[in-house]
Amino acid sequence: MKEKKKMSLAMQIFIALVLAIIAGLLMQNYADFATNYIKPFGTIFLNLIKFIVCPIVLFSIMCGIISMSDIRKVGSIGLKTVVFYLCTTAFAVTIGLVGGNLFKGMFPVVATTDLSYEAAEATSFMDTLVNIFPSNFISPMVEANMLQVIVMAIILGFAIILVGEKNVRVVNAFNDLNEIFMKCMEMILKLSPIGVFCLLCPVIASNGPTIIGSLAMVLLAAYICYFVHAVVVYSLTVSTLGGMSPVKFFKGMMPAIMFAFSSASSVGTLPINLSCTEKLGAKREIASFVLPLGATINMDGTAIYQGVCAIFIASCYGIQLTLPQMLTIVLTATLASIGTAGVPGAGMVMLAMVLTSVGLPIDGIALVAGVDRIFDMGRTTVNITGDAACTMVVSNMEAKKEVRKANK
Ligand code: ASP
Repeated sequence: MKEKKKMSLAMQIFIALVLAIIAGLLMQNYADFATNYIKPFGTIFLNLIKFIVCPIVLFSIMCGIISMSDIRKVGSIGLKTVVFYLCTTAFAVTIGLVGGNLFKGMFPVVATTDLSYEAAEATSFMDTLVNIFPSNFISPMVEANMLQVIVMAIILGFAIILVGEKNVRVVNAFNDLNEIFMKCMEMILKLSPIGVFCLLCPVIASNGPTIIGSLAMVLLAAYICYFVHAVVVYSLTVSTLGGMSPVKFFKGMMPAIMFAFSSASSVGTLPINLSCTEKLGAKREIASFVLPLGATINMDGTAIYQGVCAIFIASCYGIQLTLPQMLTIVLTATLASIGTAGVPGAGMVMLAMVLTSVGLPIDGIALVAGVDRIFDMGRTTVNITGDAACTMVVSNMEAKKEVRKANK
């Protein structure tokens, strides 16, 4: 008998994405229906992802650290990861600023007189730093505060390594729990084609071609910069430091890329990203440490968006940004991306911090707020691809280090 061939998850997600775009365009006049009756199913799916993400981050980082069984090794991986993240993010803002300046002549000049934007308070860098450290054992999990969950996992992981041999039962218990939550994740991910459809269709139905209207050039500038950054920076780093062909990398990343595009959430994409990078050959212990960290602190797409929007907003107000001001934007956008949560819309909140740093009016955010979701889909895609590129690079570097050690 012929064996029934199963369609891959990537293919299923791709079909769902195309169907969502078609259905969304056809439902332009029924946007309310899409929002009221289709979106809730997307929300159910996102809720399931959120439900699984905290235990996955906690147990996968802990088990990753325990299996490395060497605090110095964890430190060296952590350092490489943070350096990669900071450098690529600074580069991303620069691309955003250069792209913004190149396209400036084509940006629409939107009247700024009646603008008002209630900026939600963006936390300062020092507050972000303080907030990384949990003051309570339970609340990081309850509030899904990813940075705090990561710190908890690192402390517990280190403690287990230090206590040593006596811990066998605890280690086994955590490894079992990790496996159980990974299984839950696998079950939930099977629903992703439905989730993708229900999340994207209402966005297209209510943000169809008309709303894009005058901002088309700004969106185009941002998307070109996203594309350039992904192709140039990630291809280069993956091929030179990650020892992998960029084509293979992007092909293997397709399920995560499509999911990030439809959900606009790095944290939500984390489980898919973990499975994509593992299939691409990244070591599990490294992926489970580098990716959750990246979903929380590494936001290259968000940094690009902030660069492009700063130039656009300045040009609407008739302000010419100077070189020192642009350097200030590079610095603040890099830091702001650390404080940006990996959830839809967070990057726009942090844009307030970037604008304030160079004295641009925060009200300018109202100029881009209407199409934020469309910016967000692209920036999230870049954000998660950056996390995966870093995972491949660090994993390859560690593998080479081990080979060198073994040959000594
Ligand atoms: N939605 C983005 C993410 O999850 C963050 C942002 O709004 O820029 O990565």
